[in-house]
Amino acid sequence: KLYNQVQDLQGNIRVYCRVRPFMPGQPNRLSTVDHIEEGNITIITPSKYGKEGHRLFTFNKVFGPTATQEQVFVDTQPLIRSVLDGYNVCIFAYGQTGSGKTYTMSGPKELTEKSQGVNYRALNDLFLLSEKRKNTFRYEISVQMIEIYNEQVRDLLVTDGLNKRVEIRNSSQKGLNVPDANLVPVASTSHVLELMNLGHKNRVVSATALNDRSSRSHSCVTVHVQGKNLTSGAVLRGSMHLVDLAGSERVDKSEVTGSNLKEAVHINKSLSALGDVISALAQKNSHVPYRNSKLTQLLQDSLGGQAKTLMFVHISPEPEAVGETISTLKFAERVS
Ligand code: ADP
Ligand code: MG
Repeated sequence: KLYNQVQDLQGNIRVYCRVRPFMPGQPNRLSTVDHIEEGNITIITPSKYGKEGHRLFTFNKVFGPTATQEQVFVDTQPLIRSVLDGYNVCIFAYGQTGSGKTYTMSGPKELTEKSQGVNYRALNDLFLLSEKRKNTFRYEISVQMIEIYNEQVRDLLVTDGLNKRVEIRNSSQKGLNVPDANLVPVASTSHVLELMNLGHKNRVVSATALNDRSSRSHSCVTVHVQGKNLTSGAVLRGSMHLVDLAGSERVDKSEVTGSNLKEAVHINKSLSALGDVISALAQKNSHVPYRNSKLTQLLQDSLGGQAKTLMFVHISPEPEAVGETISTLKFAERVS
């Protein structure tokens, strides 16, 4: 047990699993989740998917359907703090559409203080902590927000509604991976909320009623932190990527055509590229295949090395989702 804890502290990749509750109004139903205990989760697998029985998966932590936004965030907090010490951090939400990714990162549609997600809480914490350190450090915090759709990167912090295409440059002068995307200095959580609303609006502009594009694009809030040590004058830089990934559901390629097929192919490619990168890092392989997707190129300097990675994998409790649930958990097992 102690050995595990020591490993946890040293390991740079953590995986937390979160189970969505049944939706309100749904009749009481049997969940595919049989049992949760700390990092262990047991799934009931019906005979349709091979042998009927139970399958155990183990992660750094498992949050059941009654876990609150605050409880989920408490275990994320140490990571946020390390950004102010100059680390690069990546936090991902992975899972099939409807499993709770956006809920974890942003919160529900009708937001309250209590239901705020990781994004808002993380920035709030950065402000609070930087204020606490104000006698030793002067921090500047700024935010970018982009979307990756069909392997094209777009700026979400635009006011003209035209989500400008931008490029990823891994060695730009300003130390930014996407130097052409708007970089907005922020000093208060209310300003951050405003920006997130803008980004959110821009994200749904391109969606139609039948075509919710947000489930097929990756959105990424990037927080840049620059801290000047007031005694030595030394400057440190940290960054944090908060990524709400495209839905991981497998699309039956024989059933989709045209633009839907193109989307499915791109999503598949970028999520498996992400899986390949994280599992190469977890296994300490010498070659890490960052170049295989825009997503992994974007996050290159925040995955591996001294950087810290947290993946929230989300699952739905409904028995009819069990196939996706198992493939989600297998993906997560591979990267942890
Ligand atoms: P995704 O982003 O993965 O497609 P959402 O975050 O939009 O999924 O979640 C789908 C629905 O379930 C939303 O109505 C959301 O508010 C609700 N939901 C998700 N997770 C939770 C949770 N932990 N507690 C309560 N409601 C949740
Ligand atoms: Mg979503």
